[in-house]
Amino acid sequence: MRPDFDRYPLLVAWEMTHACDLACKHCRASAEPDPLPGEITTEEAFRFLEEMATYTPKPILLPTGGDPLKRHDIWEILGKARELGIKIGITPAVTPLLTHEVIDRFKELDVHAMAVSLDGASAETHDEFRGVPGTFDLAVDALEYARSIGLPTQINSTVTKQTLPELPGLADLGRDLGISAWEVFFLVPVGRGALLQQLSAEEYEETLRWLYQVSRSHKLNIRTTEAPHFRRVVIQERAKNEGVEDNALVQNKRGVHMHDAYGFVFISSLGEVYPSGFLAMSAGNIKERSLLDIYQNSELFRKLRDRENLKGKCRVCEFGNVCWGSRARAWAETGDPFESETRCAYVPEAWREEVAGD
Ligand code: SF4
Repeated sequence: MRPDFDRYPLLVAWEMTHACDLACKHCRASAEPDPLPGEITTEEAFRFLEEMATYTPKPILLPTGGDPLKRHDIWEILGKARELGIKIGITPAVTPLLTHEVIDRFKELDVHAMAVSLDGASAETHDEFRGVPGTFDLAVDALEYARSIGLPTQINSTVTKQTLPELPGLADLGRDLGISAWEVFFLVPVGRGALLQQLSAEEYEETLRWLYQVSRSHKLNIRTTEAPHFRRVVIQERAKNEGVEDNALVQNKRGVHMHDAYGFVFISSLGEVYPSGFLAMSAGNIKERSLLDIYQNSELFRKLRDRENLKGKCRVCEFGNVCWGSRARAWAETGDPFESETRCAYVPEAWREEVAGD
């Protein structure tokens, strides 16, 4: 059952801690080995989990970091979520803390899926990006072990100019490892990622079309993060290659597709509530207000859910309701989360007319 996204989120990502033993080049959180002072306590975590359990339906909890395994109370918290009937999709950092025993415990706790980051298809390229030798081998071992005990797995990959050539190898690896999903993150230049290079709008177009083809050839469930125009590309490709009628306007139903602040919410390690981990504009803090109150009533979240507030071509685009553009990238690149997606090559018909009419 899908919630009414105006009222309830479906996915609640929680940065359990800022602490992480890796030093990844793209890290949104600029994570460091120690936690920040003032991170959410066990008691505060239990409180918001109990609140989440009252939503209709219960959302999925996505513990992330930093490294969730650096939380001293991780098993208490995951156990509490399970007791409350909240599904969990966890993203541990790949360090020596991610042992087979830990993966066994995820399985015992009915973790829905374990996501592991792979940004390079070889030890050489991945370890260089992640900053610690041996990380690639550990990641592959964790994925193989999880598969062997029947725990569904996901690969998360970040796309930058540097990692772009790795994508074909990663697709092959994902297929061979039997992953249940490949989540492809398109770099938003925030945190340490601000020092890396993004793809151009044309490279986005080419890459998104390639991802669509690979999802068919490799039978991979591919999702994108911060590239919602993948949905537009899928509609266009299906129309072109499979003869599926380009009924974007029919599919263009408000309510079906999640975006930042609409079905998705992010809680920082300090309790700040953001529309996305890459859009660090706080709408409130769960230490002071309930998560649901912030989600439903904060001005920022309400404005981000109303397409009338978007600017430029994303406001008038015929694919707007399936896409919305990345609000995080608009914010990172222009300082305004309502500006048009900066890395989309598509020019909507209505925008062409609007510009011509000026
Ligand atoms: S113009 Fe905006 S809404 Fe339309 S496909 Fe591109 S990013 Fe999406």
